[in-house]
Amino acid sequence: PAPLGPTPKLVIDLERMQQLPQEKAGPLARYVATIQSQRGDYNGRVLSIRQEDLRSLAVIYDRSPSDLTEELINWGVLDPEARRAVDAF
Ligand code: C2E
Ligand code: C2E
Ligand code: C2E
Repeated sequence: PAPLGPTPKLVIDLERMQQLPQEKAGPLARYVATIQSQRGDYNGRVLSIRQEDLRSLAVIYDRSPSDLTEELINWGVLDPEARRAVDAF
């Protein structure tokens, strides 16, 4: 098995997110915009989010956290390493 480091961070690729069709990325983009506004963090190419935010996003998308993680990896918005962050739930 691969060596396990600390739990990886959930890092959203904002450039990739903006290239996705609205019907897929819309709810994610609105959620991310809220976090950016709360932090005053508008200029990044990526945004690190809380693990609990993935739970909230899973509710919004009506998926399990692990299903949503697979979808976000397929879209290229999350790195495949993010699977380990969700396994840690
Ligand atoms: P809060 O949760 O009361 O956090 C206050 C401040 O503590 C944050 O100010 C930040 O400086 C720090 N902080 C809290 N948790 C973390 C963390 O896990 N990592 C880091 N690096 N710093 C942390 P900030 O960034 O100005 O955020 C203000 C408020 O905006 C937060 O108050 C929270 O209510 C909301 N917020 C910001 N980012 C997120 C997020 O990613 N997810 C959620 N759910 N809320 C967020
Ligand atoms: P890292 O977490 O691996 O992040 C690498 C780089 O990705 C950051 O370089 C930044 O350019 C970008 N990045 C990651 N998450 C965000 C985000 O939520 N918003 C924005 N705007 N950019 C993001 P940077 O800023 O030079 O930070 C280098 C390293 O310093 C980070 O590596 C991390 O290890 C540490 N660091 C920076 N800010 C914080 C923080 O608020 N909390 C903690 N715990 N570490 C931090
Ligand atoms: P990070 O800053 O490296 O924090 C890693 C983990 O340490 C967080 O995972 C959380 O479990 C814990 N932690 C750090 N600061 C605080 C704090 O002030 N209060 C509490 N209760 N726990 C804290 P988590 O929550 O999954 O967040 C992952 C990453 O998302 C953070 O990495 C940071 O880059 C970003 N983030 C989360 N919340 C905030 C926030 O409110 N403001 C900012 N600027 N960044 C945040």
